Amino acid sequence: MSTDFSAVREDFPILRQKVNGKSLVYLDNAATMQMPLRVMEAMETQQLSRHANVHRGIHYLSESSTRELENARDALAGFINARSSTEIIFTSGASQSLNMLAQSFVSGLGLGDEILVTVMEHHSNFVPWQQLCLRTGAVFRAVPVTGNGELDMNAFRAMLTPRTRLVSVTYVSNLLGTVNPVREIVRSAHDNGSLVCLDCAQAMRHARLDVQELDCDFAAFSGHKIGGPTGTGVLYGRLELLEKLPPACFGGGMVERVTLEGTTFAAPPLKFETGTPNITGNIGLAAAARYLDAFGIEYIAERENALLRRAVELLSALPEVEIVGHPQNRSGVLSFNVRCLHCFDVASMLDRLGIAVRSGHHCAQPLLDAMGLDGTVRVSPAFYNTFEEIDALAEGLERIIRVTKGARNGKHS
Ligand code: PMP
Repeated sequence: MSTDFSAVREDFPILRQKVNGKSLVYLDNAATMQMPLRVMEAMETQQLSRHANVHRGIHYLSESSTRELENARDALAGFINARSSTEIIFTSGASQSLNMLAQSFVSGLGLGDEILVTVMEHHSNFVPWQQLCLRTGAVFRAVPVTGNGELDMNAFRAMLTPRTRLVSVTYVSNLLGTVNPVREIVRSAHDNGSLVCLDCAQAMRHARLDVQELDCDFAAFSGHKIGGPTGTGVLYGRLELLEKLPPACFGGGMVERVTLEGTTFAAPPLKFETGTPNITGNIGLAAAARYLDAFGIEYIAERENALLRRAVELLSALPEVEIVGHPQNRSGVLSFNVRCLHCFDVASMLDRLGIAVRSGHHCAQPLLDAMGLDGTVRVSPAFYNTFEEIDALAEGLERIIRVTKGARNGKHS
């Protein structure tokens, strides 16, 4: 049985608009997925009927706001199969989740301890660990990639040492779409006595994130990449680890008792949530998770992969297009360059045709350096895109290539 996606665009009115006089073709879903009406409605209800601060009030609005926020936490725990909602920390996105974890690690790291990331990381899972190591005297190491754009797993195993405290790896590369062998990574790291954090920002529509099945210790993701609002996200952590880790930020809401002599902290997850949270946003994030669940992540992934395969097939047939990275297991994104054209020019010419793609370094400069490139054009379909839109992308590229060749030869096309 498969899910029927024929009416899905009704849920995304934003897709109906014209851009530069052309029907919008939105293929930048790895940056931000569009928001379904259901999510907007959930947030509107919160704003219209419950808007009040949480956890500390004893009046009706505060209590119902608190209940909705905690229902959202429960829904997200269910969404990633956490053992309990105490393992779900609300953050402003994957970047804050990863920074928070790195900050919590500061006091536990000693000179010569090692943090292992990969060359493939988004800067959000690279810079926080690099800076943490600079501050603590720990050693920052990055697993290299192969020419195909896959992790060099032999190098990974060789780089695990008795001093490796944490391995932090992206599940899916935001530049190449490479799906990393995270089960194997978790197993090897745990056999080595190291903790594992997975950056799942690009993985949430690729496969169900089941933290128990994956056996990861921490996981981070962003709301806006799954149809939730910007400025929302989650840091998942195994409860026994969250109990031991110190908080990264201090202030209201995260304490148990404050005296002149010192402070004791609330239990997780509140220990990590300082100040008034993004209540409406988090409720929207849970609504997005429920929306995706109603389709089934496996069917969403199946459709997105079929759209991506079509893009690979059509773009591979264009001689001037050079696809970047050839991983065996690709999901979500396709990067390429057009010979003799800068990626920014390609993206802005596609925009003239109403086609939205991403261009530049995609916050993955170490990976681009390793591949000898300074940027790519990136296409990332979502389940609401159509095969006709992928065809429009290929036709648009053909036209751009024809026109620029004509211009170079002094002809008009
Ligand atoms: N990791 C990966 C793999 C990403 O693709 C992104 C967003 N592009 C992030 C982390 C950071 O997400 P955010 O900007 O939502 O914090």
